[in-house]
Amino acid sequence: MSAGAGLRIAERVVRCAAFAWLAFAAGAPAASCDVAPGEVAAVHERHMRALNAALGEEPRPVARAQRVFERLLAANGLEGRGYALRAYAMRGFNASAIYPRGVALSLVAMDDDVSDEELAAVLAHELAHLELGHALDQACEQWRLARSPLGFLDAAREFEREAVDNPSFAAPFARLSRAHELQADAFALRLLQAAGYAPLSLSQMLAARAVANPLAGTHPELAERLAALAIAVAAVP
Ligand SMILES: [Zn+2]
Repeated sequence: MSAGAGLRIAERVVRCAAFAWLAFAAGAPAASCDVAPGEVAAVHERHMRALNAALGEEPRPVARAQRVFERLLAANGLEGRGYALRAYAMRGFNASAIYPRGVALSLVAMDDDVSDEELAAVLAHELAHLELGHALDQACEQWRLARSPLGFLDAAREFEREAVDNPSFAAPFARLSRAHELQADAFALRLLQAAGYAPLSLSQMLAARAVANPLAGTHPELAERLAALAIAVAAVP
């Protein structure tokens, strides 16, 4: 091999390594379509603002929830990834993954009567959605079902409008969302176990707190989630 060819190969190896590092540093998986991640983040922020509209500003998460959140991050090597605990004023026990790095809990989900184990379980589930890149996959599905010449922000609005009146239009999205819920539950078990929380805490939290989702069909029936979790918990060493 000539010295020049050797150099070219070395240059390629360095470039590949740099690319791999960038992909790793970015953390989240890439979207599987041409929806810009920034537009997905904007749609999620729009939801957060709507949920807190009555308050004027976003409430602060309570200190105990923050401690549980940080324990989960530290035990799973996720500090430094920019994840932040956030809060919203929605009534009832509720949580959301706010793409790309937010985990939001309703104020009710941070009440004194919610145990640390329950807090950990709900936080682990939402962190799992973020780690698995579900928001981008769901955005791609919404974009496929409701394209708009005005871009993804408008398409997402259009999707939500249409989904309310027409369940069959939204059925492929709901199917994907249900699969994501089961994936997030299974992934959450690993996050909980690493942080020293009982894997059973997720099933217990769901059984005690889960309520019907306003967007019909986006979440599996509770019985299906609990059955899948029972199998996954049994497999935990
Ligand atoms: Zn979920």
